[in-house]
Order: sequence, then structure tokens, then C-alpha cells
Amino acid sequence: MNKIIAANWKMNGNISLLDSFMDSIHNENFILAVPSVYIAYAGEKRKKFILAAQDCSVFEGYGAHTGEISAEMIKEAGAEYVILGHSERRATSNFDNVNSVYKKLNNAINAGLKVILCVDEDFESLLDQKTKELIKGNLNKIVVAYEPMSAIGTGKLPSATDIETAVLDIKNKCYNVKTLYGGSVNAENIRKILGINVVDGVLIGGSSLRLDEIKKFLTN
Ligand code: PEP
Repeated sequence: MNKIIAANWKMNGNISLLDSFMDSIHNENFILAVPSVYIAYAGEKRKKFILAAQDCSVFEGYGAHTGEISAEMIKEAGAEYVILGHSERRATSNFDNVNSVYKKLNNAINAGLKVILCVDEDFESLLDQKTKELIKGNLNKIVVAYEPMSAIGTGKLPSATDIETAVLDIKNKCYNVKTLYGGSVNAENIRKILGINVVDGVLIGGSSLRLDEIKKFLTN
């Protein structure tokens, strides 16, 4: 199965866990989003999966922006993807909103990164007209992740029909963009989710630190 399995460590993990992932995961459909300080380390090693960052700056390139990390730097460090607009960042408007995510999307694409663009139940308004236009022109570089708030970290998986309906809705509105599902995915339910035809893969949070679990995901 060629569906995408993306895992987001959030502010977790360490070098030794990263080493175990790099030693034992050989899968070109697996994307691992690590804290940005680990990207260069993994980028230099011969890893056999795809590296991602969890965010990038609204500022482009280089400049006097203390603490910021640009899309260009992420690319140079060895990541191929960046996650943008995760609900944990949108929840605090100081971190992200529709406009900052749009700016970051542009920066990421211009820097040569691919993007996993997260939206929740409110995808109607998060995928505004300008964002849709950008998606339209970059269908091979942007993947949407539909992550209902009600499912993130709660263990409450929506029904297969609800997932299918939402993903189809996103695809209909956004030029058939590839769309992942995220929220309480685990080794028991992943087969069911990947079995939904319109779902192009999954984005995993909580289970992403468990190498044994990830290996099970990858054999599904
Ligand atoms: C997430 O936070 O993006 C997520 C999918 O979390 P979990 O898998 O823990 O529900």
C-alpha cells in the first residue's frame, strides 16, 4: 500500500530514539516530523524515510528574527516536508492563524519543501480562497491533513463514513488534493482508516514515539 504514514513527535523524543528509528525504519512512505533541533542530525545520517519539520517561520530566508527558523534553513538541514497549521498551533492565535499559515505555505513552497497542511472540522474557513489557489498551483507539493479536534489525543475515532465525508468534501473544494486523516490513529484502527479509499494516509501524534507501534503501522 502506497499511502502516506506521517508521524509527528511534537515536543518529544531525543537523539537516542531518533537513532533507533533511523536504524530500523526503511520506508519511503514514512514521514517523521521531529523537533527542529534534530533535523540536521538526522538529515546528515543515512536515514531511509522522509524527514519533516513541525513548523517554519513566517519570515523568509535569513534576517534579524531571533528564535525563528526559516523554511530555507529547514530544507538545508535535510527535511523534505514541513507540517503547517497544526491545531495545537492554531489554538493560540499568537502562533498561527489563516494568514500566517498562508505566508508559511508560500515560504515552504518557495524553499522547495513539501507541506502537510493541517485543518480541523472548520476546514471551510481554514481553507480560504487564497489558500485554495495556492493548493491548486501546488498539488504535488501540498497534502492536507484532516484532523478533527474531537479526535486529537482523545481516543475517539469518528466513524469511517464521517471521515470519508469530510475528506471528500475537502477534496471537492481543493482540486482533489491528497488528504490524510489524523486523530487517535493506533495499530488497531489504522487498517480500517487506510481502507477508506479516499483517504491518502494518516498523521499520527500520540503513537508516533513508539517504534514498535510505528512498525505495525508500516506493515498494515
Ligand atoms: C495530532 O496531534 O496531530 C494527532 C493526530 O494526535 P493523536 O494521534 O495523538 O490523536
